Amino acid sequence: MSSWTVLGGGVVGLCVATALMERGEEVEVIDDLTSRPASWFAGGMLAPFCESESSPSNIISLGEYSAKWWQKRVSSVEQRGTLVIAPARDTQELKRFARMTKKYQWVTPNELEPALEQRFTQGLFFSCEAHLNPRIALMEMREKLLQNGVVFHLHKPRGRIIDCCGIYAASQLSGLRGVRGEMLILKSNDVHFSRPIRLLHPRFPCYLVPRYDGYFMLGATMIESIDDSVISVRGMMELLSSAYVIHPALVEARIVESGSGLRPAYASNMPKISYKDGIFYLNGMYRHGFLLAPIMSEQLMQYLSGEKIYENSS
Ligand SMILES: Cc1cc2nc3c(=O)[nH]c(=O)nc-3n(C[C@H](O)[C@H](O)[C@H](O)COP(=O)(O)OP(=O)(O)OC[C@H]3O[C@@H](n4cnc5c(N)ncnc54)[C@H](O)[C@@H]3O)c2cc1C
Repeated sequence: MSSWTVLGGGVVGLCVATALMERGEEVEVIDDLTSRPASWFAGGMLAPFCESESSPSNIISLGEYSAKWWQKRVSSVEQRGTLVIAPARDTQELKRFARMTKKYQWVTPNELEPALEQRFTQGLFFSCEAHLNPRIALMEMREKLLQNGVVFHLHKPRGRIIDCCGIYAASQLSGLRGVRGEMLILKSNDVHFSRPIRLLHPRFPCYLVPRYDGYFMLGATMIESIDDSVISVRGMMELLSSAYVIHPALVEARIVESGSGLRPAYASNMPKISYKDGIFYLNGMYRHGFLLAPIMSEQLMQYLSGEKIYENSS
């Protein structure tokens, strides 16, 4: 048994700590509670097929592992698929999305989501995809680690270090950049959706992920920046105008929260395991922290145990 110190309590740090704990290793987690984890602002979509539209194709084989991994460990996973829609004037966007992806069916959107009524004539349904509530998942993971004797603290590391600090490791990892994502939490008593809905739009694509009790996560902007200040007027206007296209009744929704997080990304927009000056790193999750942290943690375990010579996934 080895002794490990995981730096970072975002989704990557908690998945790595869980993988180590499940292998019977001694683990502690050091989380700098003063910085804001990108994980807290995520939509929680586990959508490898939709994401393959703009990612390397191995995102599908890597991401397919995810929903089952989460289902075994947290309570908030829902396997209801993803519905992709576009206004009639942007039908070309839907056709383009279909060309770039696979494992979908063409559907009439309101047959799956009656609240959409007749506003969208065609949609793409990715039935294999899932979503979870990221905040519940993070809290449950942390709770399970604590129950299993994993110590969270802010003192000096006692074990071999695995750095999972996301964008906060940028000064140690060359090529790691931030991609700012702004989001809103809405509460609506009038609009009911049961699965994530992605709206394709040439300038302002957005998605709406149902949480519980009428709450939705509306996301997300994609801005090449390490500015982690609060949401901008532009970001809020773009997101809200896209939400209005999905359902006009959302103008009556309440804005419960706004936020922004910094997605850590390498040039390839795919994650990387690396080793430098005695420290292991798992970073670069970009838009896919919840989707890819499970498989990347597994690959890291194989790397640490010498079962696998790591080949970059980038
Ligand atoms: C708006 C938005 C929507 C998203 N939607 C999705 C989605 O639907 N599906 C998906 O899979 N992904 C999504 N993502 C991406 C996902 O959130 C990120 O890929 C993921 O959160 C990155 O996780 P991380 O653990 O690497 O970093 P973080 O979550 O940023 O965690 C890093 C942690 O390190 C800690 N830390 C910093 N410095 C130190 C230090 N010196 N010592 C110890 N700890 C330290 C921080 O406090 C933090 O807790 C979204 C991101 C955003 C912003």
